[in-house]
Amino acid sequence: MKITHNAALSFHPIFIPLNQLLGAILDFGLRMCCIALLYHNYGNIIYKYRYLGAGTQCRLQFFHGPWFLFNQMTSTSIMKTDPIRLNSTLAKAKEGSVLSKSDITFLLNLEDNEQIDLLFQAACDVRSKHFGDTIFLYGFIYTSTYCRNDCHFCFFRSSNPQSRRYRKATPEIVAAARRLADSGVHLIDLTMGEDPALFDSDGAGFDRLIDLIESIRKATGLPIMVSPGVIPENILSRLAEAGASWYACYQETHQRKLFNQLRPGQDYDLRLKSKLKAHGIGLLIEEGLLCGAGETKGDIAESIAVMQRLDADQVRVMNFVPQPGTPMENRTPSDPQKEMLISAVMRLLFPDRLIPASLDVDGLAGLKQRLEAGANVVTSIVPSGEGLAGVAQHTLDIEEGRRTITSVLKVLETCGLRTATVEEYLAWIRSRQEAVKKLLMNLPAASRGVSLKVKFILSQPR
Ligand code: SF4
Repeated sequence: MKITHNAALSFHPIFIPLNQLLGAILDFGLRMCCIALLYHNYGNIIYKYRYLGAGTQCRLQFFHGPWFLFNQMTSTSIMKTDPIRLNSTLAKAKEGSVLSKSDITFLLNLEDNEQIDLLFQAACDVRSKHFGDTIFLYGFIYTSTYCRNDCHFCFFRSSNPQSRRYRKATPEIVAAARRLADSGVHLIDLTMGEDPALFDSDGAGFDRLIDLIESIRKATGLPIMVSPGVIPENILSRLAEAGASWYACYQETHQRKLFNQLRPGQDYDLRLKSKLKAHGIGLLIEEGLLCGAGETKGDIAESIAVMQRLDADQVRVMNFVPQPGTPMENRTPSDPQKEMLISAVMRLLFPDRLIPASLDVDGLAGLKQRLEAGANVVTSIVPSGEGLAGVAQHTLDIEEGRRTITSVLKVLETCGLRTATVEEYLAWIRSRQEAVKKLLMNLPAASRGVSLKVKFILSQPR
């Protein structure tokens, strides 16, 4: 009875157009599925043909065009796995051609494991073209965990009562640096929060930092990286004169709204200018992104584009690790693969620059996959027994001695890589400093100023 009633209803004049509409939608959906399936197989066939000969590839590309356009309109998931586009993008990158923002976004959207492996392989090929099988090693000393800032993602933010605070004295730091140098690192990375003691009004804090740099240079003869945050230009010059080679200052993101959320009360432009000033006076600069902290893939693509205009000498990305006692402690950590994907894309875009594989996110266990994504520096090597902390992982692997050269070398070996000599690292630094100097000299006098360069970096399409 009920069926008869419904059948009668479906033939009611009001329902006839409705039925036709539903039928058309269903029909359209089915057709799209068939086309998608055909396209998928068709794409795979072309993908395999690519290895058979360039001529075949070209002819098939000719037919591929209209299909691709059609699919762009109908299926984003297919676009994500377009093998033709992947191959041409990777080939372009390997040849050293510029990748567009759309290419970057395409690579960041890869989801298929086989395709991601192709990206990683391309990143390793680019690394070996520029650096052979050599890897640089950075010793890490977190000198002070006090900070005047209140970054939402950071365990050491000023308002976190759970944060473990210490301020190491100069002799202790020099002793740790000497141990690291003896173990075979190529650089001493002095990391610190924006310690209020550094910014005291009489300038004694900066004097202590400069004295520390001189002492470490004397004791180890190694290059030094410092990250004291945003500091006056004359202090940057004094750091360089004392023997620092690098200034690290991460923006975390180049999406201003997100920057303001992550680094409340801090000035995006001031931080960017600080890096440019440092570059201008001869310090090499490191720029870094945080991923999984609320950004979109588009934001990452935009951030990478800004990093290219910034012309940083070392670029990095680190997965966000939720920190107890912070506003982001309950945030779900991002997919661990995300960091590797971004890192591999960075390798394609910054072929001759340094890209770290940090022990500070997943410890020693995460090193191999970072190297396989194209990184060429191992960072956060921390001596045990000194009571030193890591940044994102304060204790992981440190006192167990798993963040040491001995442990790292074993991983390098399994990846077919070797540690560089100190001379090789020094030669890279010198050549990079020369390149930066030449670039600045070749700029028209009027555009050498920091303000103009900032304007240039920020004036590009966002
Ligand atoms: S990220 Fe750096 S500046 Fe921000 S709170 Fe932590 S130590 Fe301070």
